[in-house]
Amino acid sequence: MIELKIHERHHEKYSNHYPLLFKEAIMGNHIFDTGELEEGELLKLTDERGKYMATAYYGRQNKGLGWIITTNSKEKIDTLFFKRKIYQALEKRIGLYNNPKTNAFRVFNGEGDGIGGLQIDFLNGNYLISYYSKGIYKFNSEIVAALSSVVEYDSIYEKKRFEDESESDFDGFVKGKRIDFPLLVKENGVNLNVYFNDGAMIGFFMDQREVRRALRNNYAKNKTVLNTFSYTGAFSLFAALGGAKKTTSVDLANRSLERTIENFKANAIDPADHEIIVEDVFHYFKWAQKKNLKYDIVILDPPSFAKSKDFVFNAEKDYPELLANAIAVTKDSGIIIASNNSSTIDMEKFKQLIGKGFNMADLRFEIFESYQLPKDFRTNRFYEYSDYLKVLFIRIKKKG
Ligand code: SAH
Repeated sequence: MIELKIHERHHEKYSNHYPLLFKEAIMGNHIFDTGELEEGELLKLTDERGKYMATAYYGRQNKGLGWIITTNSKEKIDTLFFKRKIYQALEKRIGLYNNPKTNAFRVFNGEGDGIGGLQIDFLNGNYLISYYSKGIYKFNSEIVAALSSVVEYDSIYEKKRFEDESESDFDGFVKGKRIDFPLLVKENGVNLNVYFNDGAMIGFFMDQREVRRALRNNYAKNKTVLNTFSYTGAFSLFAALGGAKKTTSVDLANRSLERTIENFKANAIDPADHEIIVEDVFHYFKWAQKKNLKYDIVILDPPSFAKSKDFVFNAEKDYPELLANAIAVTKDSGIIIASNNSSTIDMEKFKQLIGKGFNMADLRFEIFESYQLPKDFRTNRFYEYSDYLKVLFIRIKKKG
């Protein structure tokens, strides 16, 4: 095992269970640039005198260089190790199995369950393992062996969330029965179509489960709903099922049209009663403002960074303006559901961005409900960035 020393100024951080390995913390960190290290290699981290502090694996991600996976120098990183970790994670989700209304949830959530870069989702009897670096993927046979020894499954699939030059026809199937996609899953009684290996995403974002339920159960009835960055229309679908008068979904991606139709049909909703628009949201806002369109509810769920032909969107910089645009097409006393998933923006900061947007629009507002990650998306309390999701339900206050 390669031994690396941690700079003294970072000892405290790591003694306090910080899970991420980052370059500045390591003495002689040029080793990460010379190609001497292979992804997946285990690193023994010590203090400056060589005393053991933790074991990490090397795996490059946008977040850092790898993750600490144990602070016990004797613990072997083998199939049994992954089995223990997965078992502990499963124990915390036992209550989610056998729910007739929801059969899609997260079983293992990266650093929240003790192994950064690794996620496992349960989707109607099937397990999807996502690897976020070549490094963690090096352990894939141990991880699959561990998972398949502790759960019953129809199938196990893998998804690589890192760039991989080697296999272009990789469909992810590992064990069990191959799925004939789309796979239908259920969330609070609603059918959703899922595809495991069609781009980075699978068709819906499970972390918004509680938001979708609140929209359907408490707010959508008889309302007009504009769903921006709508992807496969999950929010529109829940709004429609909650009795919305009409939903309008807007997304830039061509696939969003057929996927939204497919999701409506899977729930016996006639897509013809709803509007699905393939367009840049920023263009749509301009057009809607010109036409003086006003909605009861507007949903804003942008990616943290997006680049289209005409616009670059960076949440930290551009959220207030995006919100001001949404406000302009929302009725007096209407509701905006504003979501943000950048890990570098915390709830406090997000509320400030919301305040700025309302300043730009010269209106007052009231935040009356807020959501963060659901319980199955366990976070790591020693790593604040793992708590990335913030969703606010905001009511526009009438002028005067
Ligand atoms: N709200 C969705 C998830 C959004 S994912 C849900 O709950 O399922 C982000 C989506 O934003 C992607 O589908 C992407 O195609 C879309 N997107 C990115 N930039 C865009 C833009 N400028 N205009 C419209 N859609 C955009």
